[in-house]
Amino acid sequence: MSLFSAQEIARQAATLVLAMAAAVTPAPDQTISAWAEGRINIPGETGTTREGELSWDGFEYLIEPLDRLHPDDPARTVTFVGSAQIAKTTVGVIATLYYSTVIARPWGVALPSGDEALKYNRTKWQPLVDATPELRRKIRAVTSRDEQGSTNTYKRFPGGYGQFFGTTSAKPLQMVTFCLVVKEETPNWSLSVGDRGDPHKQIEVRQLQWELAGAKTFHNSTPGLVRRSEEGTGEATGCPVTADFLAGGQRRLYLPCPHCAHLPGGVLIRLDREAMLGVEKGETPHFCCPSCGGVIEHRHKRGMVAACRPDRQPANGVRGGWIPCFPSEDPTNPAPGSFIPAAEYEAWRARPLEGRQPSYHAWQVVSDAVDWAYIAKQIQDADDEEAKIALHQQIFGEAYEVTVQQADVDKLLERRDNRLTKGVVPSGYEIVTVAVDLNGDWAQWTAYAWGPEAEHVMVDKGRIDGGPSEPQIWAELAELERRRWPHEDGGFVTTEVQGVDSGYGTYHVYAFCSSHAKSKALDGAKGWGLTPLRRSTGKPQKLEGPEGRVVTCRTWRVGTWDLKRTLMNEAIPLSLEGEKGARAPRRPHWPGWIERDFFEELTGEALVSVQDSKTGVVKDEAWVRVRRRNEELDLWVYNKALAASLGIGVPGAEPDWLELARRRQAQQAGLEALWERPPSAGARSGSAPPATANTAPASPDVEAAKRKWSF
Ligand SMILES: [Zn+2]
Repeated sequence: MSLFSAQEIARQAATLVLAMAAAVTPAPDQTISAWAEGRINIPGETGTTREGELSWDGFEYLIEPLDRLHPDDPARTVTFVGSAQIAKTTVGVIATLYYSTVIARPWGVALPSGDEALKYNRTKWQPLVDATPELRRKIRAVTSRDEQGSTNTYKRFPGGYGQFFGTTSAKPLQMVTFCLVVKEETPNWSLSVGDRGDPHKQIEVRQLQWELAGAKTFHNSTPGLVRRSEEGTGEATGCPVTADFLAGGQRRLYLPCPHCAHLPGGVLIRLDREAMLGVEKGETPHFCCPSCGGVIEHRHKRGMVAACRPDRQPANGVRGGWIPCFPSEDPTNPAPGSFIPAAEYEAWRARPLEGRQPSYHAWQVVSDAVDWAYIAKQIQDADDEEAKIALHQQIFGEAYEVTVQQADVDKLLERRDNRLTKGVVPSGYEIVTVAVDLNGDWAQWTAYAWGPEAEHVMVDKGRIDGGPSEPQIWAELAELERRRWPHEDGGFVTTEVQGVDSGYGTYHVYAFCSSHAKSKALDGAKGWGLTPLRRSTGKPQKLEGPEGRVVTCRTWRVGTWDLKRTLMNEAIPLSLEGEKGARAPRRPHWPGWIERDFFEELTGEALVSVQDSKTGVVKDEAWVRVRRRNEELDLWVYNKALAASLGIGVPGAEPDWLELARRRQAQQAGLEALWERPPSAGARSGSAPPATANTAPASPDVEAAKRKWSF
């Protein structure tokens, strides 16, 4: 006999289901936008152009994406991609306030870093709470004494919590679940949360518990860079918000023509950036109605956007709004053109979505905060690559496609020189540098041979399997350090200096470099204006390793940014210029045996400017990876830094190339190795290492140049 009858079990199960249903507060019918308007106060400290009670006037296009985050809306993921200054961040802020105070469900706002999470709270979120008594009553205050209070990144409210977090650390993602997640500025996210992998997947796991009870994701960003997939399928990849936008319904705004929309045959038009006129000629920027020919200027915008309010009768009776524009393979479900008859608005909005989630794109042309004259000026001023990237991202709200570099790879492949032999130093080059990059379970090295005025040849490269704690790498690097490279004109050139990146496996790198005279532990530094290679100041680095052994090592800072720019703007263009194999200062030469992946890695980064999403002002620049791998780029940079530290390519500090060649030939002729002989007063050669040997006493200029560039 069982303990409970079947009916009893059924009754208990039903009670449990009811209890769970009751645990989730049902949402009121009122939309989120209607709840927020006139209720939430926006103080001036948020940098708003519209201080005071929240109103959607001028920003009517935000209403639909926001209301899709209401629990009654079937949307699971809402994506908004757009330019700066269109107030799209407001959507996530209002939605999280609604989840905090109206329906009490847990939420999270994910940002690129912990600092940005703090800043989001400080500048966008907390000021609204502080300025709105109703919110202040419900969301616990930030107090240092009270454990039940909120903190700057963790908000408590009756029935739930909210969290702002950076996607660089896995810690904030432990032990929490989220019903609503707002993803902000995803193109700047790191590729992995610590060592746990894709942050988007980590976040999804935190939402699993809410999937049946209405989990929502709002993905909101200015776009990043995209590249065409290397497999040649033509698919744009690399920007998460662009990917989500393309996977969705791709809604765009259709606005009533101010001249003809209310007349028979009148139209709604899309203000595409390509359709903006008068930009180049310096005329007043405008659009031209494709139906009536009427000129549409900045002053018409407010009225056109106002027609997008779903809950109000528009002034002239014609409504505008979002229409899905995704291209369909179904011929009976075509995408709308750039303008549609005003009478067909509802029909286009009801277009079958083929299972796509709502996604939205808007650019500055519709924003109440931006003048069209400003947009025109930005377009006129964008004359170099960096400005164009910024224009696409910040003004047009579109991902910028990096295509230049892909083309470069094909051109570089054509420049390979079959006369160069793997592992052999060609005629005219006398110094070999080696740089090493450590990865998780393998190391990669590349050797360059250098000649006068920093002309250089890539002579060899290799891969060593094993992690930094295994002896294999270090045995091979010791051998590389001792290696004698055969010279085309006879004799050998020994490795002059070897640089090992200390960013990974640091302890082992220090241990190796501190006991190998020709090896330097390198430390790549960001920022402009740094010397190529500089010995760290102050005391040597100390590190305690496994078994408590302490290593002490001098590290060498590499100014990577300027060197990357030298590679992209000078070295690569030089190698593409003129005749193949022709000698020229600073020119790199590529042997015939290297393959496409070498050049893919060499061109694996691009310089982008990071702008303040509110003001559009450039606040930062950064080198970003635009391809899967970038090791050869780093290895060129390290080799170039090592070469510069030897005076190679440094005016006034160049090594004595003739002397170096003479010594190699003397050695080849079987004479004693001159640099091992004690210095004598009459000898022109001294006891200095070959790379820095100068036949004449160094002038003050030379010494100054050397100090500037290396030691
Ligand atoms: Zn018209």
